[in-house]
Amino acid sequence: MDVSPKALSNGQRAADLERMAASELDLIVIGGGVTGAGVALDAAGRGLSVGLVEQRDYASGTSSRSSKLLHGGLRYLEQMEFSLVREALAERNLMLNRLCPHLARPVSFVYPLQHRVWERAYVGSGVLLYDGLASLAASPLPHPKHLSQTALLELAPGIDPESAVGGIRYWDAQVDDARHTMMIARTAASLGAAMAPSTRVTGLLEEDGRVGGVEALSLESRRTFGLRAKKVINATGVWSGDLQRMASDGGLTVEASKGIHLVVPKDRIRSDSGLILRTEKSVLFVIPWGEFWIVGTTDTPWTLGRAHPAASRSDIDYLLRWANSVLVDDLTPDDVVGVYAGLRPLLKGESDETSKLSREHAVLESENGLVSIAGGKYTTYRVMAEDAIDVAFPDAPPSRSEDIPLVGAAGYAEAVDAEPRHGVDSEAWQRLLGRYGGLVDEVLAPAEGHRDLLEPVTDDAPYLRAEILYGVTHEGALHLDDMLTRRTRLSIETSDRGVDSVEAVADVMGDVLGWTEGDRDDEVAHYVARVEAERDSQTQWDDRTADAARMGAPDVRTGESE
Ligand code: FAD
Repeated sequence: MDVSPKALSNGQRAADLERMAASELDLIVIGGGVTGAGVALDAAGRGLSVGLVEQRDYASGTSSRSSKLLHGGLRYLEQMEFSLVREALAERNLMLNRLCPHLARPVSFVYPLQHRVWERAYVGSGVLLYDGLASLAASPLPHPKHLSQTALLELAPGIDPESAVGGIRYWDAQVDDARHTMMIARTAASLGAAMAPSTRVTGLLEEDGRVGGVEALSLESRRTFGLRAKKVINATGVWSGDLQRMASDGGLTVEASKGIHLVVPKDRIRSDSGLILRTEKSVLFVIPWGEFWIVGTTDTPWTLGRAHPAASRSDIDYLLRWANSVLVDDLTPDDVVGVYAGLRPLLKGESDETSKLSREHAVLESENGLVSIAGGKYTTYRVMAEDAIDVAFPDAPPSRSEDIPLVGAAGYAEAVDAEPRHGVDSEAWQRLLGRYGGLVDEVLAPAEGHRDLLEPVTDDAPYLRAEILYGVTHEGALHLDDMLTRRTRLSIETSDRGVDSVEAVADVMGDVLGWTEGDRDDEVAHYVARVEAERDSQTQWDDRTADAARMGAPDVRTGESE
């Protein structure tokens, strides 16, 4: 199914909110993470009228803070969760082959072996099974390979020879999660969904004991809207309980578990492959990420602020210690360019009524009709979305999301083979294709008359001014934070954490969004304060003091610490 791409912009957002308020829709989705965006796409693809409200930015919750892997999860095989792994691998392959080949890319991992015989047999058979399950669903990736110690050290000279007698290499996939979620939202909008970020649900509308809509507050205009719909789906991840409490009903119990990641420069670890290591609790990944490595993750319970979870110095030291256990040249805190923390929405204590569709996610319709979907993995968002719509609309036509490529997928293959256009060199062209796919001409067209748009926004990162402009005009960025943290990754890919780019980015954004000088100063001040608070939190040893330090910077949308 071909989709003609629609722009997400400030104007579209305001118009969509009015559209949602004007008449009753089939569905309102609460939450613009990967799950909610996927639900909106699935619903629109089935011909339902749908609106989505997100309190901050697309993917501003967990969906911009993951390990960014599209994977089946090798470690679930140890728990004999074969059907779960198979389902996730099928989704991985679908994204690589059809849904978003422009955004998803193959990534290889090496598992360094410490024991010659039994470990090679044990891990080797797990990896073989993983590959077999992937092959059942048209895997486009190479098969795993056993490596001698010599071959391992040729591939990854940064591994300490004392720590490994050989290795096993296998392939998975990765994606920039925040961009991918935004592209799902854009695809939903292109299919007719009304999309309203910066819009917080503050209450549910009930009629005769049934949920019939939401009360929503625009965090931009401060206006309150009553949005009516036949069904409301709660896709708010770690906030699920808040919404269920508004429905004064029990439901799914979702707890938060914190995971942090470090970003370190590529030249600090000599390797042509990612690494996967077993830790005492789980696994640790060292994942290639452009000019960097992402090292993660941790897994600890979290009951503090959910909007901006803080990484503590203990979290950082934990990751460095594990990474250093196999590296020749130790990483130190000074090598860390960026840090981010996210919260896993974990399902707990499901009751009998829970429609338990897999071990990882669940959909529940409460007595007054609120449908909640939670748990799961980033990789399985499409299946989760389909399940949620099946529960909310049992009579709807079947899901078509398997056949709806995301915007930018069309024209991507042709653009990869084409000569670069619009005055960019081939390196920039290929980089842009990995972010915009076939939409690359739309991104670069404004630069035809304005060559300054081909200048990078800072000397320390490749992002062009044209990308900043496009982020506002077509990708729904409303604040500096949206642009520096999610449309680009300047906040984790520069040692100044984006601060040196704020003025240049604010100039481009402010022109389009009509910022006054006061608005502009306010945006800059919020971003700089956020970076300072994050840096401060990362020097604190425990969660409570780290959280208190992070809370020192107010949220740009609400002006409050939350
Ligand atoms: P969220 O992304 O949190 O979205 C919920 C949204 O609801 C938020 O944007 C929030 O602002 C909004 N919201 C809340 N309350 C309201 C309200 N009142 N009104 C309006 N909006 C509201 N999965 C993988 O497959 N691969 C991985 O590599 C991977 N790595 C991970 C690593 C870490 C450290 C973590 C924490 C998770 C990882 N996951 C991974 C899991 C995956 O990231 C999550 O399962 C997924 O992102 C959850 O998406 P979601 O849409 O359900 O939640």
